[in-house]
Amino acid sequence: MLSTIRIFEKDMQQSECTAKILSSGIETIRYVKNKTPQMVETIFIICDQTIFHPQSGGQPADKGTINGKNVLTVREDKNLPKTEHGYIIKHYFLATEIHLEDVQVETEVSMIIDNTFRSECSQYHSAGHLIADIAECSPQFQINEFTSLKGHHFPGEAYVELGIKIPLGSLDTFKNDFNHAFKQIINEAKPLATCMIDNKRHIKIAYQNRMCGGTHVNSTSELSGFMINKIKQDRKDTGEMFIKLWYGNNN
Ligand SMILES: [Zn+2]
Repeated sequence: MLSTIRIFEKDMQQSECTAKILSSGIETIRYVKNKTPQMVETIFIICDQTIFHPQSGGQPADKGTINGKNVLTVREDKNLPKTEHGYIIKHYFLATEIHLEDVQVETEVSMIIDNTFRSECSQYHSAGHLIADIAECSPQFQINEFTSLKGHHFPGEAYVELGIKIPLGSLDTFKNDFNHAFKQIINEAKPLATCMIDNKRHIKIAYQNRMCGGTHVNSTSELSGFMINKIKQDRKDTGEMFIKLWYGNNN
């Protein structure tokens, strides 16, 4: 049975590992380059373990190399049945970069991720969780009855969407109040905690455990410079009101 151990769930700082190829093949995938979707020919491998975070949970795929070859993208295979470990992860290379014979089953590969990009992704992911946490759980904003709807933690385009019951008055005032609370928790250097609840990994950064398979910082102090830059208030087609908070690192 295929399954991939996700090393980054236990050790979010490790950046290199070796792994054994369990399966490989040729696949045409939809890949977005420079905001343009295109179909590309790839070679993929599935390994017994990985250091690469796949694109999921609002976090982009890690960048890096396997046996010195650039990895195009990394995705969970949701078509194959889930196993005890829960995940099957596919690492894709451009078919022009390698041959299928280079990635034979049972052989060992060496994986290295781009640590700078991983750190940035971890910061954005943790900042997104913290924003949802402050909105939903901080006594200061309890009156708004926010519910977190969506988090997109890609560096440079990150946002959090929150459901609201009553429209906000001044968005500018809210933004200033929110950024004040945000900065305060960053300055408090709150440690991040990981735990398993019902066999599912949870991350707690300030108030609440949130189910998450992503990578994170060790302390809110690593989020210095993060703030909300823009807010939009709108209504969905379903009539549900929401606010969208774009955030980033302004350092
Ligand atoms: Zn998460």
